[in-house]
Amino acid sequence: MRIDLHTHSSVSDGTESPADLLATAQAAGLDVVALTDHDTTAGWPIAAAARPAGLTVVPGMEMSCRWFPADSPPISVHLLAYLFDPAHPGFAAERARLRDERLERGERIVRALAEDGHPVSWERIVERSEGGVVGRPHIARALVEAGVVDSVDHAFTTLLHHHSPYYVAKVDTEVREGIALVRAAGGVPVFAHGLATKRGRVVGDAAVAAMVDAGLLGVEVDHPDHAPDERAHLRGLAADLDLIVTGSSDFHGANKATQIGACTTEPDQFEAILAAGTGSVPFRD
Ligand code: AMP
Ligand code: FE
Ligand code: FE
Ligand code: ZN
Repeated sequence: MRIDLHTHSSVSDGTESPADLLATAQAAGLDVVALTDHDTTAGWPIAAAARPAGLTVVPGMEMSCRWFPADSPPISVHLLAYLFDPAHPGFAAERARLRDERLERGERIVRALAEDGHPVSWERIVERSEGGVVGRPHIARALVEAGVVDSVDHAFTTLLHHHSPYYVAKVDTEVREGIALVRAAGGVPVFAHGLATKRGRVVGDAAVAAMVDAGLLGVEVDHPDHAPDERAHLRGLAADLDLIVTGSSDFHGANKATQIGACTTEPDQFEAILAAGTGSVPFRD
């Protein structure tokens, strides 16, 4: 069994449609794939309809959250959520708020870039996103197409970096509130790429313990952005805190170099997620 529990389609900031992503997953030899677009479940019905026979699709999402340390600015944390009820009112309202927040901050970033002479248009970026959830990768692609930078990666290390004067932070959900919402909707919350220091500041062990007290059920250990020592530390923490351990590619299509299935989850850990999730069911044969 090959299981990849973290992928993004063009419904958020991946480049493949949900149908193409599922075909890619099957061609890569995966048996199970989770669709975890940022802050939206819009891809779920599309994936259910497009699912190739033999492939199991886990409905999921990656929620944009923040941890507030006592004595430093908030730290961005991403929460994977599986098998929740998409109709739970409180959780649906918070997802809608996060999407609005993305539109507002995306527009502010792009307008500031345009004012300084970078030939990018917010209207064009929104049009190209086809109603999907907008993120910095969309702005990065526009900057590449305008010839301002030579790659999406280059955009992220310069104009779109969180230290750039153009960067605008989103008002993401306080992570313990996010965890509570996922659990209230019958879902399984898993801390995504929690120690990926290459992405920026990360939280300490005490924060993870506090997240477990709030209802966190798992941690993503094998992730392309985790160094070997970071994986080892998280694996130890998961054993101490009795957490589910996952591994995933965080596939974004052509927006990142990572291939689907680059990291995978053990079948017994996937079974634990299936047993804990009560808000929805996988799409399968
Ligand atoms: P945002 O959610 O709008 O703040 O943008 C962050 C998103 O950009 C994350 O989902 C990452 O997957 C993606 N991202 C971060 N760094 C890079 C990079 N160097 N190349 C491509 N995508 C990236
Ligand atoms: Fe992303
Ligand atoms: Fe993430
Ligand atoms: Zn992701």
